[in-house]
Amino acid sequence: MEKANPIADNRLFKGVYVCRNCKAKIRAPNAKLIRLNKVRCRRCGSIALRPKHKELRKLKV
Ligand SMILES: [Zn+2]
Repeated sequence: MEKANPIADNRLFKGVYVCRNCKAKIRAPNAKLIRLNKVRCRRCGSIALRPKHKELRKLKV
């Protein structure tokens, strides 16, 4: 069994967002930009992004 590693977790998921439209990964310098809709998807230009971390939690449950 693999143990959850908070450091690796942070590295992999902190500041990483996924486009709800085309599932492209987007790296954001900080969460404030996401909230202000300043970060757009590189591929489709959508601002509908979700944190990558949420997906992991859903899978674990
Ligand atoms: Zn997109």
